[in-house]
Amino acid sequence: MAAMNPTAFDTTELLVGGQWRAAADARTLVLQNPSDGSELARIARGGATDIDAAVQAAQVALDGAWGALAAPERGRMLAALAQRVRDEADELARIEALDVGKPLRQGRADALALARYLEFYAGAVDKVHGQTIPFAGGYTAFTLREPLGVTGHIVPWNYPMQIIGRSVGAALAMGNACVLKPAEQACLTALAFGRLAEQAGLPAGALNIVPGLGDEAGAALAVHRGVAHVSFTGSVEVGRRVQTAAAQHVAPVTLELGGKSPQIVFDDADLDAALPFLVSAGVQNCGQTCSAASRIVVQRGVYDEVVRRMAERYRALRVGPALDDPDVGPLISARQREVVLGYLGLARDSGLAIAAQAPLPTHLPPQGYWVPPTLLAPVDPGHRLAQEEIFGPVQVVIAFDGATAAEAESRALAIANGTRYGLVAGVWTRDGSRALRMARRLQCGQVFINNYGAAGGIELPFGGVKDSGHGREKGFEALYGFSALKTVAIRHD
Ligand code: NAD
Repeated sequence: MAAMNPTAFDTTELLVGGQWRAAADARTLVLQNPSDGSELARIARGGATDIDAAVQAAQVALDGAWGALAAPERGRMLAALAQRVRDEADELARIEALDVGKPLRQGRADALALARYLEFYAGAVDKVHGQTIPFAGGYTAFTLREPLGVTGHIVPWNYPMQIIGRSVGAALAMGNACVLKPAEQACLTALAFGRLAEQAGLPAGALNIVPGLGDEAGAALAVHRGVAHVSFTGSVEVGRRVQTAAAQHVAPVTLELGGKSPQIVFDDADLDAALPFLVSAGVQNCGQTCSAASRIVVQRGVYDEVVRRMAERYRALRVGPALDDPDVGPLISARQREVVLGYLGLARDSGLAIAAQAPLPTHLPPQGYWVPPTLLAPVDPGHRLAQEEIFGPVQVVIAFDGATAAEAESRALAIANGTRYGLVAGVWTRDGSRALRMARRLQCGQVFINNYGAAGGIELPFGGVKDSGHGREKGFEALYGFSALKTVAIRHD
């Protein structure tokens, strides 16, 4: 496939009001290739001045060409953008492999997910309706769904395309003008997305992209008075700061934060079906996934078999540079590797048993950010490795049991619900009633029965409870979240 013209690598500037330009203070940011530690690109490092310019440009777009478009016209534009993303899926995957260290297959899946978000929102946008409300005699009352205004989008580095799709895609569909702040570790597909949006005919200022550091560009965006809504995906700690900043101008926030998600395996589970999900949901993207199934909670009767079969899969995992399309690539950065190695050190110091580790090939570039995918079993549910988000390819297996089926369920629930997080959970059982009971009692935003992740399920509302955040993206919920509901009451008698 031909590279984009101009290629994404030429796109190292920030995008404000339809203009690609350097940061106001001409500073730059260095991006590294996690597979070998080499310098990949130097891009503009936006700061508060650039964020302010971007917010103003977005407001101009709202007051002008972008704001004048009707919903079906916005939908057509998003559909055209989706097609551009599809056309360039291979190139986007290549860029993401270099920038994030993501295996090519996963990068391509992310690009296609971005296209699907845009297609879904393109088709849905003229189906988001207000209501007429029966009210006192002499009145007609109805509701309108209107754009919020300028929306801020602060995204992390682990799934840039998917997160841009689910958040920026929905915000644009509802007629908002966006200021996107990609993560400082990985910005290239976000910038490429800006190019594609231009090619799809998005009016200047509808989408502005300002890469930069979190406490510079990110903080400036969250606190900006011109921003009507902040969508943040990232860590709990920064999420709190973003919510506090947005509260200064009373802007709503959507917080998509971390997780310590369990997959619960009951004795009656179809293990052949479960096994691939148990492992892949832990090591996908080198474990750097908010909804990673980092805790495997297994009933005693199948515990030994589950650990043995997971271990076999771990030993067969291919670790390698992202462009080789391995099963597992590198971590994003040296810092992240220190964090993960720290947890593995803690596991060692506290005597946790390593059930299996994927081998690291000897030919790996030494400057890449490698860690061996590691399966730890058994682990006590209260152990730090079973409580804290590691954000690396490390899974813990926790055993449970009960004298009765009801007791076993209660025990599994207590373990599953027993962390500060509540993002996603999986349940593997052939007992339909138990599956429903578990679905009702699990404290999280999404429950998957006899699957995990529903293949991305862009139509399925997504978000957390507890420290995993609040607000929902994906599906129609995202469109409601990115619109303001206005009530009109007309007195006519
Ligand atoms: P992070 O919180 O450090 O950074 C996320 C984004 O916030 C980046 O763009 C960063 O530049 C920005 N940021 C940093 N400081 C800021 C500040 N003071 N004000 C405004 N913005 C600031 O997170 P990370 O380490 O990049 O990502 C990993 C975390 O994200 C994990 O906890 C993971 O679970 C979570 N995550 C959640 C989801 C989800 O949908 N729930 C998806 C992906 C990642």
